Parts: sequence; C-alpha cells; structure tokens
Amino acid sequence: MHVVMIGGSDAGISAALRARELDPAAEVTVILEDAYPNFSICGIPYYVSGEVTHWRNLAHRTIGDLEAAGMRLRLDTVARRIDVPGRKLLVSSAGGEEEVLGYDKLVVGTGAVPVRPPIGGLAGPGALGSTDGVHLLHSMGDTFAVMDTLEQTAPASAVIVGGGYIGLEMADAMTVRGLAVTQMEQLPEVLPTVDAELGALVHAELAARGVEVLAGTAVQAISTAAPGAAGRLEVAATGPGGAAVTRLADMVLVVVGVRPESTLAADAGATLGVRGAIAVDPGMRTGLPDVFAAGDCVITHHRLLGVTYLPLGTTAHKQGRVAGQNALGGDRAFAGSLGTQVVKIFDHAAARTGLRDHEARAAGFDPVTVGSAADDHKAYYPGSHRIAMRFTGDRATGRLLGVQLFGHKEAEIAKRIDIAATAIFHGMTVEALSDLDLSYTPPLGSPWDAVQMGAQAWTRHIS
Ligand SMILES: Cc1cc2nc3c(=O)[nH]c(=O)nc-3n(C[C@H](O)[C@H](O)[C@H](O)COP(=O)(O)OP(=O)(O)OC[C@H]3O[C@@H](n4cnc5c(N)ncnc54)[C@H](O)[C@@H]3O)c2cc1C
Repeated sequence: MHVVMIGGSDAGISAALRARELDPAAEVTVILEDAYPNFSICGIPYYVSGEVTHWRNLAHRTIGDLEAAGMRLRLDTVARRIDVPGRKLLVSSAGGEEEVLGYDKLVVGTGAVPVRPPIGGLAGPGALGSTDGVHLLHSMGDTFAVMDTLEQTAPASAVIVGGGYIGLEMADAMTVRGLAVTQMEQLPEVLPTVDAELGALVHAELAARGVEVLAGTAVQAISTAAPGAAGRLEVAATGPGGAAVTRLADMVLVVVGVRPESTLAADAGATLGVRGAIAVDPGMRTGLPDVFAAGDCVITHHRLLGVTYLPLGTTAHKQGRVAGQNALGGDRAFAGSLGTQVVKIFDHAAARTGLRDHEARAAGFDPVTVGSAADDHKAYYPGSHRIAMRFTGDRATGRLLGVQLFGHKEAEIAKRIDIAATAIFHGMTVEALSDLDLSYTPPLGSPWDAVQMGAQAWTRHIS
C-alpha cells in the first residue's frame, strides 16, 4: 500500500502520521512544495516578535523525527496533476524535472493561500512586494521575507491591513519588536469574529499598548512614499463617513484572510463547495476514487451549521488524522467543528466557540445573547481578573449555542472556552453547563466557575 500526501503542513503530516501509526508497513510519501514540513505556522507571530528565538523552533517535529516515523519526504516538490483513473501523480522538483509517482491512496492537503485583496499597488505591473516592505503572511517563506525587511531595513513603523486574529497577533508582535503600529480594519470593530462589545475591549487593549486602531477604515491603495517622507510607503484609505485617511509607514502587512488552495483537486475532477473549498464527506472522501482531502483546502463540517468553511489548525489536524485512517481502509468520521478559537492580544485573550446571535438566527434557532462578567478566581485572593462573557442560547430549548470570552491571559480564557465547547459539542443546555462539577480553590476559581455564572446570567435573563 502506497499512500501519498500532497502538503506537508497540519493536514498532510497528520494524515501521514496516522497512516504509519495504523500500519507500520504502509509506504507513506509526503510531497511538499517548500522545505519546511510540519512547521507550526500558527507560531509565526511569536518568532517575528522574538519570543521564539529561532525559526527552527517552530517545527512541531524535525525532518529526522518525521523520517523516523516512517514517512518519505519529498521537499521542494510541487504536485502538478492527478491522474485519478491511473492513480498517478505528476510532480516537479525545484530544478524543473518532472516525475510520475504511482499511489494506491492519495490525501490532498494543499491548504490555503492568503487573500490578496483588490487594493491598489498589490497587483498588476509595478505591484509592490516584499522587497518594497509590503508583505502577505502564511508560509515560512513569507515569514523569512518579513524577517528580512525587519532585520535589513530596521523599520520604525508598520501598517497592518486587517484586524482579524492574525492581524492582531502581528500587531502585538510588531509592537513588542518596537515598531509603531497602525491597524486598519474595514469592519466597524477589530476581531469581527466576536461581537462588537468584545471587539471594543480588544480595541482598548491594542490602544493601551500604543497601537493606533483605525476601525471602519478600508484601505484603497498602497504606494511608494515621496522621498523624504516619514516612511517608505503610503497607505491611502477611506475612514468612517468616507473621510480620507493616509498613513506613512516603513512596512505594510496585508492579512485579510485565506482562500482554499483547491485547484489541483478541482482540475482532477473533484467537486468544490463553499468558498471554492474541496467538497468532502465527513470521512474526508472527495468522491474521486481513492482521493481524500483534509485541512484548509476542504469545506468544514460544522456541528451546528452543517457545511461551512472554517480554516483552522486544530481542524486540519483532526481532519488529516481521519483522512490518514480512512486511506488505510478505516471508517472514521470527522466529528465536526464548532469554530472554537482563542487569540492572545498582549496581556489579554479573546475566544469564541459555537454561534453568535446572527449566525444562530440564520441557522434557524431562536437565539438570545446575554452579556455578563465574573472574576476568574475569588477576588480576595491577589491577582484576580474580570472575564467579559457573552452567552448565546436557544430560547425555545435552552440549548447552549455559543460563548464568547475576553479577559486577562492569566484568566484561563482558553480552558474556559473549552468547557463551553465541550458543552456545545454534546448538545447541552445552558442550565446544564451550570450543573457541571467543575474544580474550585480560591486562588484559581470560584465555587461557581465564571462560565457557570455566565450561564446563570443567561438563564435569569430569559426566565
Ligand atoms: C500566522 C498564522 C497564525 C495562525 N494561528 C492559528 C491558531 O492560533 N490556531 C489555529 O487553529 N489555526 C491557526 N492558523 C491557521 C492554521 O495555521 C491553518 O489552519 C493550518 O496550517 C492549515 O493546515 P493545512 O495543512 O490544511 O494547510 P497549510 O498550512 O496551508 O499547508 C499546505 C501545505 O501544502 C503545500 N502545498 C500546497 N500546494 C501544493 C502542491 N501543489 N504541491 C506540493 N505541496 C503543496 C504547502 O506548501 C504546505 O506545505 C494560523 C495561520 C497563520 C498563517
């Protein structure tokens, strides 16, 4: 049995590890277009900030570890064409030599590529790029380009286009590096994946750390600044009310989301779904014989929404594992995402799981969302922090649909959102979350944990 994975990141490597785990005799080959298999691109902001001191430290596993696990790595190799009936893959090396590889089962883990928005100066003849200090960010190659700009041109200032979670992490990282950062987000508030009430708290944290936050500001064009200007680049935008906004900066980072890299699979006949991602069943089967797919290149099965597109590393790992198992003849199903995520912004963290009010309404629920706040541990013990919470539940059934949290990074925001994620995963009601037997000691919690107090606030509100 020869299993070939295309893509050497979360999905491809998870599939390869699972296949080797289940059948140590299976021949497993991983094809990747760069030389950085199994790197944690989620950790890029912390390498840029200097908190992770060497890029090699971002590797989940070294090449030696992966080879010891029994997989053959084909670095700097691009998969060009899949011959589905012939079960063959055309690949080319960095030098341009082409080769045909046979496979018994194929797992496509081609991931996502950063969106290049229609901003003047980013496309077409004379487009600005990394040597001009204008960067997109997704791969290790992108990271090295950002580091070159930082180390060789010693920029004093940066504009970050995009106020999603990666934009926020990079605002944190660049500020830690000593740059003056301006963050531009076209929606009315930063971190638009949480309600504006919590986005405003994120905004306040950024501002308190010296980041200039321009929400409701759509970037129109990036150009080279005039000689002698206070920055090598000029960013022109339209602010609230249509006001013209201009900022000068030494570098610009454009981080406005990703799109699935699904062309290879589509060219082979795979069906595409939401946002052009590869359609797969919960077993990560593409519908093409012997071809599986997983990670940011595929649609996401969501436990409350059905099919959506929600590219996340946690999801890519789980889907890859399912694909690896099923490629060996297994019958696992991806249990479904809840879009659980957490982001650190300086000393704070914001997190969400499940649905927000408008998402729940669109999915056919009758949602009620209630905001509240509680201490992470007993306030009489030093170092307690307030946690801002938003609970969304279904009015008719009391079912818990979504939770959003914001608080100090020491307030266990990630673990508390995971309590909520577990409850939603298992279809619990808001009230049942309040009944859970959670741990308590005054320096670390309360007899009613903060999330249970949030649940009780919701129940009080609707009764
Ligand atoms: C800065 C940053 C921070 C992030 N932080 C988080 C986080 O905190 N939490 C979280 O859950 N997620 C996070 N993510 C998202 C997460 O990294 C992705 O969801 C995850 O990497 C997806 O894994 P993947 O294997 O599907 O795809 P990708 O990581 O996109 O990898 C795709 C792989 O396929 C290769 N490839 C593509 N086409 C070909 C081809 N034709 N031939 C050969 N190889 C090919 C690529 O080179 C690459 O190796 C972050 C992403 C970024 C960029």
